[in-house]
Amino acid sequence: MSVYVVGHKSPDTDSVTSAIAYAELKKAMGVDAVPAMQGELNPETTLVLEKFGFAAPVIMTDGAGKKLILVDHSDISQAPDNLDKAEIIEIIDHHKIGDITTNNPILFNAQPVGCTGTVLKQLFEINNVKITKNVAGIMLAAILSDTVLFKSPTTTEADKKACDGLAKIAGISDMAALAMEMFKAKSAVAGVPARDLIFRDYKDFDMKGKKVGCGQLEMVDLSLIDDMRDDLYKTLKEVKEEGGRHTILLMLTDIMKEGTDLMVISDDVSFVEKAFKVKIDGPTVWIDGMMSRKKQTIPPLQSAFGC
Ligand code: MG
Ligand code: MG
Ligand code: MG
Repeated sequence: MSVYVVGHKSPDTDSVTSAIAYAELKKAMGVDAVPAMQGELNPETTLVLEKFGFAAPVIMTDGAGKKLILVDHSDISQAPDNLDKAEIIEIIDHHKIGDITTNNPILFNAQPVGCTGTVLKQLFEINNVKITKNVAGIMLAAILSDTVLFKSPTTTEADKKACDGLAKIAGISDMAALAMEMFKAKSAVAGVPARDLIFRDYKDFDMKGKKVGCGQLEMVDLSLIDDMRDDLYKTLKEVKEEGGRHTILLMLTDIMKEGTDLMVISDDVSFVEKAFKVKIDGPTVWIDGMMSRKKQTIPPLQSAFGC
Protein backbone atom coordinates (compact mmCIF):
# COMPACT_ATOMS: atom_id res chain seq x y z
CA MET A 1 0.00 0.00 0.00
CA SER A 2 1.38 3.40 -1.00
CA VAL A 3 2.19 5.96 1.64
CA TYR A 4 1.21 9.52 0.76
CA VAL A 5 3.56 12.25 1.92
CA VAL A 6 1.50 15.40 2.08
CA GLY A 7 1.82 19.01 3.26
CA HIS A 8 -0.82 21.44 4.47
CA LYS A 9 -3.81 22.97 2.67
CA SER A 10 -3.05 26.09 0.54
CA PRO A 11 0.30 24.47 -0.23
CA ASP A 12 3.42 26.62 -0.04
CA THR A 13 6.90 25.83 -1.33
CA ASP A 14 7.97 24.04 1.87
CA SER A 15 4.82 21.89 1.93
CA VAL A 16 5.29 20.76 -1.66
CA THR A 17 9.07 20.37 -1.78
CA SER A 18 9.16 18.60 1.60
CA ALA A 19 6.59 16.10 0.32
CA ILE A 20 8.78 15.46 -2.72
CA ALA A 21 12.08 15.34 -0.82
CA TYR A 22 10.80 13.16 2.02
CA ALA A 23 9.14 10.78 -0.45
CA GLU A 24 12.58 10.47 -2.13
CA LEU A 25 14.16 9.63 1.23
CA LYS A 26 11.45 7.08 2.07
CA LYS A 27 11.77 5.50 -1.39
CA ALA A 28 15.52 5.16 -0.87
CA MET A 29 14.60 3.27 2.30
CA GLY A 30 12.28 0.90 0.44
CA VAL A 31 8.94 2.55 1.17
CA ASP A 32 6.42 3.01 -1.65
CA ALA A 33 6.07 6.74 -0.99
CA VAL A 34 4.05 9.11 -3.17
CA PRO A 35 4.41 12.89 -2.80
CA ALA A 36 1.07 14.69 -2.74
CA MET A 37 -0.36 18.16 -2.21
CA GLN A 38 -3.77 19.50 -1.22
CA GLY A 39 -4.22 22.19 -3.84
CA GLU A 40 -2.73 23.85 -6.90
CA LEU A 41 0.87 25.08 -6.96
CA ASN A 42 1.39 28.76 -6.18
CA PRO A 43 3.53 30.83 -8.59
CA GLU A 44 6.64 30.60 -6.41
CA THR A 45 6.48 26.81 -6.12
CA THR A 46 5.76 26.52 -9.86
CA LEU A 47 9.02 28.35 -10.53
CA VAL A 48 10.96 26.20 -8.06
CA LEU A 49 9.75 22.88 -9.47
CA GLU A 50 10.41 24.00 -13.05
CA LYS A 51 13.86 25.27 -12.18
CA PHE A 52 14.94 22.00 -10.56
CA GLY A 53 13.07 19.68 -12.92
CA PHE A 54 10.25 18.22 -10.86
CA ALA A 55 6.67 17.48 -11.87
CA ALA A 56 3.87 18.71 -9.63
CA PRO A 57 2.86 16.12 -7.01
CA VAL A 58 -0.59 14.55 -7.28
CA ILE A 59 -3.46 16.40 -5.61
CA MET A 60 -4.88 14.49 -2.65
CA THR A 61 -7.40 16.06 -0.31
CA ASP A 62 -9.17 13.04 1.20
CA GLY A 63 -7.24 10.85 3.63
CA ALA A 64 -9.92 8.16 4.03
CA GLY A 65 -8.39 4.67 3.85
CA LYS A 66 -4.89 6.01 3.15
CA LYS A 67 -1.55 5.82 4.93
CA LEU A 68 -0.22 9.33 5.43
CA ILE A 69 3.00 11.05 6.35
CA LEU A 70 2.25 14.68 7.17
CA VAL A 71 4.89 17.31 6.53
CA ASP A 72 4.90 21.00 7.50
CA HIS A 73 1.78 20.79 9.72
CA SER A 74 0.16 18.88 12.57
CA ASP A 75 -3.23 20.61 12.73
CA ILE A 76 -6.45 18.82 11.76
CA SER A 77 -7.72 21.98 10.02
CA GLN A 78 -4.67 21.98 7.72
CA ALA A 79 -4.59 18.23 7.04
CA PRO A 80 -6.50 16.18 4.41
CA ASP A 81 -10.22 15.60 5.03
CA ASN A 82 -11.47 12.45 6.80
CA LEU A 83 -8.30 12.28 8.83
CA ASP A 84 -10.05 10.02 11.35
CA LYS A 85 -10.34 7.41 8.59
CA ALA A 86 -6.65 7.68 7.63
CA GLU A 87 -3.62 6.08 9.21
CA ILE A 88 -0.99 8.66 10.07
CA ILE A 89 2.38 6.99 10.25
CA GLU A 90 4.73 9.98 10.60
CA ILE A 91 4.71 13.74 11.10
CA ILE A 92 7.70 15.94 10.20
CA ASP A 93 7.18 19.59 11.05
CA HIS A 94 8.50 22.90 12.34
CA HIS A 95 5.35 24.49 13.77
CA LYS A 96 3.83 24.41 17.22
CA ILE A 97 2.34 20.99 17.95
CA GLY A 98 -1.17 20.93 16.54
CA ASP A 99 -4.27 19.01 17.56
CA ILE A 100 -3.71 15.77 15.65
CA THR A 101 -3.63 12.62 17.76
CA THR A 102 -2.93 9.01 16.72
CA ASN A 103 -3.90 5.57 17.98
CA ASN A 104 -0.41 4.15 17.57
CA PRO A 105 3.05 5.45 18.40
CA ILE A 106 4.51 7.24 15.37
CA LEU A 107 7.68 9.02 14.34
CA PHE A 108 6.97 12.64 15.23
CA ASN A 109 9.86 14.97 14.49
CA ALA A 110 9.04 18.65 14.97
CA GLN A 111 11.81 21.12 15.58
CA PRO A 112 11.80 24.84 16.30
CA VAL A 113 13.60 25.72 13.06
CA GLY A 114 12.64 27.93 10.12
CA CYS A 115 11.60 25.24 7.67
CA THR A 116 10.65 21.57 7.33
CA GLY A 117 13.47 21.39 4.76
CA THR A 118 15.96 21.93 7.57
CA VAL A 119 14.54 18.97 9.52
CA LEU A 120 14.65 16.84 6.36
CA LYS A 121 18.30 17.68 5.75
CA GLN A 122 19.06 16.09 9.13
CA LEU A 123 16.87 13.05 8.37
CA PHE A 124 18.77 12.38 5.13
CA GLU A 125 22.00 12.49 7.14
CA ILE A 126 20.73 10.33 10.01
CA ASN A 127 19.54 7.72 7.52
CA ASN A 128 22.71 7.92 5.43
CA VAL A 129 20.84 8.70 2.23
CA LYS A 130 22.56 10.96 -0.29
CA ILE A 131 20.67 14.09 -1.30
CA THR A 132 20.65 14.39 -5.08
CA LYS A 133 21.46 17.70 -6.77
CA ASN A 134 17.89 18.57 -7.71
CA VAL A 135 16.39 17.52 -4.39
CA ALA A 136 18.98 19.73 -2.69
CA GLY A 137 17.82 22.58 -4.93
CA ILE A 138 14.16 22.34 -3.90
CA MET A 139 15.03 21.90 -0.22
CA LEU A 140 17.25 24.99 -0.39
CA ALA A 141 14.47 26.93 -2.11
CA ALA A 142 12.02 25.96 0.65
CA ILE A 143 14.31 27.17 3.42
CA LEU A 144 14.97 30.46 1.61
CA SER A 145 11.23 30.91 1.14
CA ASP A 146 10.13 30.03 4.68
CA THR A 147 12.89 32.14 6.27
CA VAL A 148 12.51 34.96 3.69
CA LEU A 149 16.24 34.73 2.98
CA PHE A 150 16.99 34.52 6.73
CA LYS A 151 15.14 37.77 7.47
CA SER A 152 12.25 36.10 9.29
CA PRO A 153 12.61 35.83 13.08
CA THR A 154 11.89 32.11 12.68
CA THR A 155 15.40 31.69 11.21
CA THR A 156 17.88 29.60 13.19
CA GLU A 157 21.56 28.76 12.80
CA ALA A 158 20.44 25.26 11.76
CA ASP A 159 18.60 26.76 8.76
CA LYS A 160 21.64 28.71 7.62
CA LYS A 161 23.90 25.70 8.02
CA ALA A 162 21.46 23.50 6.11
CA CYS A 163 21.36 26.06 3.28
CA ASP A 164 25.15 26.19 3.04
CA GLY A 165 25.28 22.41 2.69
CA LEU A 166 22.36 22.22 0.25
CA ALA A 167 23.70 25.06 -1.93
CA LYS A 168 26.97 23.15 -2.34
CA ILE A 169 25.16 19.96 -3.36
CA ALA A 170 22.84 21.89 -5.70
CA GLY A 171 25.73 23.86 -7.21
CA ILE A 172 24.18 27.21 -6.35
CA SER A 173 26.68 29.94 -5.59
CA ASP A 174 24.28 32.87 -5.13
CA MET A 175 21.48 32.05 -2.70
CA ALA A 176 20.27 35.65 -2.59
CA ALA A 177 19.73 35.65 -6.36
CA LEU A 178 17.67 32.47 -6.14
CA ALA A 179 15.64 33.96 -3.27
CA MET A 180 15.04 37.17 -5.22
CA GLU A 181 13.85 35.21 -8.25
CA MET A 182 11.39 33.38 -5.98
CA PHE A 183 10.19 36.53 -4.22
CA LYS A 184 9.47 38.15 -7.57
CA ALA A 185 7.43 35.13 -8.65
CA LYS A 186 5.61 35.23 -5.31
CA SER A 187 4.83 38.92 -5.83
CA ALA A 188 2.96 38.28 -9.07
CA VAL A 189 -0.54 39.48 -8.22
CA ALA A 190 -1.68 41.35 -11.34
CA GLY A 191 -4.85 39.85 -12.78
CA VAL A 192 -5.21 37.29 -9.97
CA PRO A 193 -8.71 37.23 -8.39
CA ALA A 194 -8.79 38.59 -4.83
CA ARG A 195 -10.12 35.28 -3.51
CA ASP A 196 -7.17 33.38 -4.97
CA LEU A 197 -4.75 35.86 -3.39
CA ILE A 198 -6.42 35.48 0.03
CA PHE A 199 -6.19 31.68 -0.13
CA ARG A 200 -2.72 31.55 -1.72
CA ASP A 201 -1.10 31.16 1.70
CA TYR A 202 -3.95 30.80 4.16
CA LYS A 203 -4.61 29.01 7.44
CA ASP A 204 -7.58 28.66 9.78
CA PHE A 205 -7.10 28.30 13.51
CA ASP A 206 -9.38 27.40 16.39
CA MET A 207 -8.97 29.96 19.15
CA LYS A 208 -11.01 29.04 22.20
CA GLY A 209 -13.87 27.88 20.01
CA LYS A 210 -13.63 30.88 17.69
CA LYS A 211 -12.59 30.35 14.08
CA VAL A 212 -9.78 32.70 13.13
CA GLY A 213 -8.34 32.79 9.61
CA CYS A 214 -5.06 34.32 8.51
CA GLY A 215 -3.74 34.71 4.99
CA GLN A 216 -0.40 36.15 4.00
CA LEU A 217 0.87 37.77 0.83
CA GLU A 218 4.59 38.39 0.77
CA MET A 219 5.65 40.98 -1.77
CA VAL A 220 8.79 42.83 -2.75
CA ASP A 221 6.73 46.03 -2.91
CA LEU A 222 3.23 46.62 -1.53
CA SER A 223 2.45 49.19 -4.21
CA LEU A 224 1.81 46.13 -6.42
CA ILE A 225 -1.58 45.76 -4.73
CA ASP A 226 -2.48 49.45 -4.44
CA ASP A 227 -5.43 49.20 -6.81
CA MET A 228 -6.59 45.87 -5.37
CA ARG A 229 -7.02 46.85 -1.72
CA ASP A 230 -10.76 47.58 -1.89
CA ASP A 231 -11.42 44.33 -3.70
CA LEU A 232 -9.27 42.37 -1.23
CA TYR A 233 -11.15 43.91 1.71
CA LYS A 234 -14.57 43.22 0.20
CA THR A 235 -13.65 39.62 -0.63
CA LEU A 236 -12.03 39.05 2.76
CA LYS A 237 -15.31 40.09 4.33
CA GLU A 238 -17.17 37.54 2.19
CA VAL A 239 -14.72 34.81 3.14
CA LYS A 240 -15.14 35.68 6.82
CA GLU A 241 -18.94 35.51 6.63
CA GLU A 242 -19.26 32.35 4.55
CA GLY A 243 -16.91 30.43 6.84
CA GLY A 244 -18.54 31.57 10.07
CA ARG A 245 -15.25 33.09 11.19
CA HIS A 246 -14.98 35.38 14.20
CA THR A 247 -11.91 37.10 12.82
CA ILE A 248 -10.04 37.10 9.54
CA LEU A 249 -6.66 38.67 8.86
CA LEU A 250 -4.70 39.22 5.68
CA MET A 251 -1.03 39.94 6.21
CA LEU A 252 0.26 42.17 3.41
CA THR A 253 3.94 41.66 4.09
CA ASP A 254 6.61 43.88 2.55
CA ILE A 255 9.70 41.67 2.37
CA MET A 256 11.99 44.62 1.68
CA LYS A 257 10.64 47.00 4.34
CA GLU A 258 10.32 44.08 6.76
CA GLY A 259 6.86 44.77 8.05
CA THR A 260 3.21 43.95 7.47
CA ASP A 261 0.16 45.98 6.62
CA LEU A 262 -2.40 43.90 8.49
CA MET A 263 -5.91 43.80 7.05
CA VAL A 264 -8.38 43.03 9.84
CA ILE A 265 -12.08 42.11 9.84
CA SER A 266 -13.47 40.90 13.15
CA ASP A 267 -16.66 40.60 15.16
CA ASP A 268 -14.64 42.26 17.91
CA VAL A 269 -11.44 44.05 16.86
CA SER A 270 -10.42 44.49 20.50
CA PHE A 271 -8.86 41.00 20.43
CA VAL A 272 -6.62 42.06 17.55
CA GLU A 273 -5.90 45.46 19.09
CA LYS A 274 -4.85 43.77 22.32
CA ALA A 275 -2.72 41.17 20.51
CA PHE A 276 -0.65 43.70 18.61
CA LYS A 277 -1.02 46.75 20.86
CA VAL A 278 -2.48 48.80 18.02
CA LYS A 279 -5.57 50.88 17.36
CA ILE A 280 -7.61 49.69 14.38
CA ASP A 281 -9.48 52.53 12.71
CA GLY A 282 -9.14 51.59 9.06
CA PRO A 283 -9.04 48.49 6.86
CA THR A 284 -5.35 47.89 7.64
CA VAL A 285 -2.78 48.70 10.28
CA TRP A 286 1.00 48.75 9.62
CA ILE A 287 3.01 46.63 12.03
CA ASP A 288 6.72 47.20 11.75
CA GLY A 289 8.90 44.08 11.84
CA MET A 290 6.01 41.64 11.39
CA MET A 291 7.14 38.96 8.92
CA SER A 292 6.11 35.61 10.36
CA ARG A 293 2.54 34.42 10.82
CA LYS A 294 3.76 31.47 12.84
CA LYS A 295 5.93 33.41 15.25
CA GLN A 296 4.60 36.97 15.31
CA THR A 297 0.94 36.85 14.35
CA ILE A 298 -0.62 33.66 15.71
CA PRO A 299 0.94 33.47 19.22
CA PRO A 300 -0.10 37.00 20.35
CA LEU A 301 -3.56 36.41 18.87
CA GLN A 302 -3.91 33.14 20.76
CA SER A 303 -2.97 34.91 23.99
CA ALA A 304 -5.49 37.65 23.29
CA PHE A 305 -8.20 35.03 22.70
CA GLY A 306 -7.23 33.37 25.97
CA CYS A 307 -5.82 30.15 24.46
MG1 MG B 1 4.19 25.87 5.15
MG1 MG C 1 7.24 25.42 6.47
MG1 MG D 1 5.31 30.94 4.71
